[in-house]
Amino acid sequence: MKVFKFGGASVKDSTAVRNVSSLLAKFSGEKLTVVVSAMGKSTNKLEEIVQALVNRDKNLFETNLEELTQFHIDILGNLFAEKHFKVYHQIDETLELIAKKYDEPIPENRAFLYDQIVSLGEVLSTFILSAYLQEEGHKAKWVDVRKLIRTNSTYQEGKVDWNKTEELINQTFLPLFDNNDILITQGFIGHTTEGFTTTLGREGSDYTAGILAYCTNAESVTIWKDVPGMLNADPKYFNNTVKLDSISFKEAIELSYYGASVIHPKTIQPLQKKNIPLYVKSFLNPEDEGTIIQQSTEKDNLTPSFIIKKDQVLFSFTTKDFSFIVEENLSDIFDKLTKAKVTMNLMQNSALDFSILVDSKKVNVNEFISIFADDYHVKYNSALQLATIRHYNEATIAQLIEKKDVLLEQRTRHTIRLVLKDK
Ligand code: ASP
Ligand code: MG
Repeated sequence: MKVFKFGGASVKDSTAVRNVSSLLAKFSGEKLTVVVSAMGKSTNKLEEIVQALVNRDKNLFETNLEELTQFHIDILGNLFAEKHFKVYHQIDETLELIAKKYDEPIPENRAFLYDQIVSLGEVLSTFILSAYLQEEGHKAKWVDVRKLIRTNSTYQEGKVDWNKTEELINQTFLPLFDNNDILITQGFIGHTTEGFTTTLGREGSDYTAGILAYCTNAESVTIWKDVPGMLNADPKYFNNTVKLDSISFKEAIELSYYGASVIHPKTIQPLQKKNIPLYVKSFLNPEDEGTIIQQSTEKDNLTPSFIIKKDQVLFSFTTKDFSFIVEENLSDIFDKLTKAKVTMNLMQNSALDFSILVDSKKVNVNEFISIFADDYHVKYNSALQLATIRHYNEATIAQLIEKKDVLLEQRTRHTIRLVLKDK
C-alpha cells in the first residue's frame, strides 16, 4: 500500500479536485491511503472564525462562515451535476456544527476550542473528494482519522500515542482495504482518549501521511505538490532554482531545521525509522520524477541548497559589570528565553557578549529587553536576514553576500550560516 498526501493547493477548486481523480486513476489496481488537507486557504478562514467567536464579533463570525460556506458550495456545484443529496447534507451538517458554536459557552481552553473548529476544514474537504471519487467510479471510502490517530490533550500540537494509534489502525483501518482500493482520510487531526478532536500543528497533514505510513508499514509516501519536487531554494527569492533529485532523510531534516518549508519537519522521522521512501512530486505533471528522500546520503552534496529567513532581529547581551559571559549567565539567559517562549534561530558567544537571532514576528522587542534589563545591557539590530547554505562553496557565498553587510558568520564542514543586512 502507498500513502498519498494532497495539500490545500491540490484541492483548491473543482478543477483541482478533478485533477486528483484523474491522477488517482493512473494508479488503478493499487491500494492507496489518501491523506487530504483542507481546501485552498480554508484553514486560515477557520482560524478567523475562531478569532471572531472569541472576540464575540458576531458580524465577522457570520461573514467568515458565509464565505467558507460559499467556497465549498461553489466547488460542490461544479462537481456534481445534480444536487448530490448525501454530500450536500454532510457539508451542511459540518458547517452547522460551526454555526452553533457562537451560542455555546466559550471553553476556557482556547486551544481546545480552536481544534474543535479548525479541524473541520479537513472533514469538509474529504467529504467532497470522497464523494467525487466514488462518483467517478473509484473504489474509494471515507475514513475518519479522528478515530485512528490518538494524541495527548496538548491541543493545537497533539503528541501522538504511537502504540495506541498503531493498534487502532491495525484493527479498524487496514481491514477496509479488503473491499476498497482507496481510503480517503483527513490530514492534520487526531483525537484524545476522551474522544475530543486535536490538531497536530499547522501544515501537519504531511505528518499525518508519515504517521499512517509508519503504522501501516506502507511501501512509500508521496506528497503531491504544485512544484516539481524539493527545490534547492525558494523560487520567491532565487531565479535559478534546481530540483534536488535524491536526498537522504538526514539531509531533509537538516534542511527543514534551517527553514526549508517544503515538508513538515516531523514527517521524516517515522519514515526514517522504517526506511519508507518519501517522494515529493508535482500533481500537475505526475509522470515527472520529482524528489526522492531515502536512506542513502550519497547524493546529498551534489547541489548546494539556499535557505533564507527574513525579518530577523539580532540581540546581544553583555553583563553590566563587564565580566565574562560564563555558564552561569548562559543558563540564566536560556531560562528567561524558555519562560518567554522565545525560540532562537542561531546563537553565538564571545568573551563579553552573547548573541541570539530571533524572528521579529515572534518577539516584542521592548518587552523582550525588559526581561533582561536588570542584569544585562541588551543591544539589538533589526531587519536582518539569516542565510543558510548547505554544501556551500566560495562562489555560492559570494553570490549571497553581494550588496550585503555580514554581521555574523558560522561555518561547519557542510553548512554556512550568515546574518546579513542590506547595504
Ligand atoms: N490544513 C492545515 C493547514 O493549513 C494542515 C495542512 O494543510 O497541512 O495548516
Ligand atoms: Mg496546507
